[in-house]
Amino acid sequence: MEFRDLKKQYQILKPKMDQAVMEVMESSQFIGGPKVKELEERLASYVGVKHCITCGNGTDALTMVLKAWGIKEGDAVFVPSFTFFASAEVVSFEGATPVFVDVDRDTFNMDVHSLETAIKAVLKEGKLKPRAVMPVDLFGLPADYDAIQQIADKYDLLVLEDGAQGFGGTYKGKRACSFGDAATTSFFPAKPLGCYGDGGAVFTNDDETAAYIRSLAVHGKGEHKYDNVRIGWNSRLDAIQAAILLVKLDAFEEYELKGIDQVAQWYTEFLKDKVKTPIVPEGYTSSWAQYTITLKSEEERDLIITKLREQGIPTIIYYPKPLHRQTVYKNHKLYVPCPVSEELSRTVVSLSFDPYRSKNLITGIVDNLF
Ligand SMILES: *Cc1c(COP(=O)(O)O)cnc(C)c1O
Repeated sequence: MEFRDLKKQYQILKPKMDQAVMEVMESSQFIGGPKVKELEERLASYVGVKHCITCGNGTDALTMVLKAWGIKEGDAVFVPSFTFFASAEVVSFEGATPVFVDVDRDTFNMDVHSLETAIKAVLKEGKLKPRAVMPVDLFGLPADYDAIQQIADKYDLLVLEDGAQGFGGTYKGKRACSFGDAATTSFFPAKPLGCYGDGGAVFTNDDETAAYIRSLAVHGKGEHKYDNVRIGWNSRLDAIQAAILLVKLDAFEEYELKGIDQVAQWYTEFLKDKVKTPIVPEGYTSSWAQYTITLKSEEERDLIITKLREQGIPTIIYYPKPLHRQTVYKNHKLYVPCPVSEELSRTVVSLSFDPYRSKNLITGIVDNLF
């Protein structure tokens, strides 16, 4: 069994997908062009923001926003400790300091109390300048943007939504990747909306940020490609990936998002009396990048992983180490304790999952568990 069955998805989309890729090959317009433009317009309108700028991957998307905002050495960016490494890496890459914040046990997302405590600790120390907060929509569930925005306003911080896993989720009727001052996503194949390689995008309503990022992504271009006004780099989504994403976006909107929500409901129905199943609070919907259960102990988790593995059913631990425990950050100052991030890294496991599962298949997985 595949953890996320991308082969099955391709088999279903194959006629349209092959056609779309062939069209790009026949047009021989591989970089930029009408497919990329069409995709950016569709993504911006789906999310509900003015600008969408596609780029090479989700990590570049985050990096470009930080650069556009001039985040640099001496600046503090508040990042949850329980997330994928890239969320903090991009901050360090700019020479700024990621300040780790704990997460909420039920939503796995940034804990706003921990955030405010961390901001106060940084201000009290007086060495770093708080500049931005980077909430992550972990496992497909948007963070608590109203509460985060309130704190950001209070301390004059920019908000960058890391929506790499959040695309398709909603919060109080608004779509993920529309929150804060800018948002990013990733089209890595296993994300809610994935392409057949690497890809990413930045979303913003701010004209200036958008123009700056369009320049950064093409060698710091000015009026045109051979007019260079700043140091940038090369980060573009190619036309074949854009064509693939246009086909996938149709499926995503028409039935995949509904499909995966149904599969999640089956899991929850079968598992809720036995383990802690994911919580989607009132006012939120998840795009279910992962279906992640929480066990009582590391031992119980190991037992479940082993039982499933014996039946050929894969599981993945997202994430086995909170970021503040990563080797590269071992001498990094921790401004607030992150006990929940540590606990979750010992007790969570994500189950094999995608929109193309039948109820029987889910029953089969669950029956192997207990
Ligand atoms: C995947 C991911 C990224 C990075 O995206 P890439 O396209 O792999 O560079 C960043 N943040 C989070 C939370 C992610 O899950």
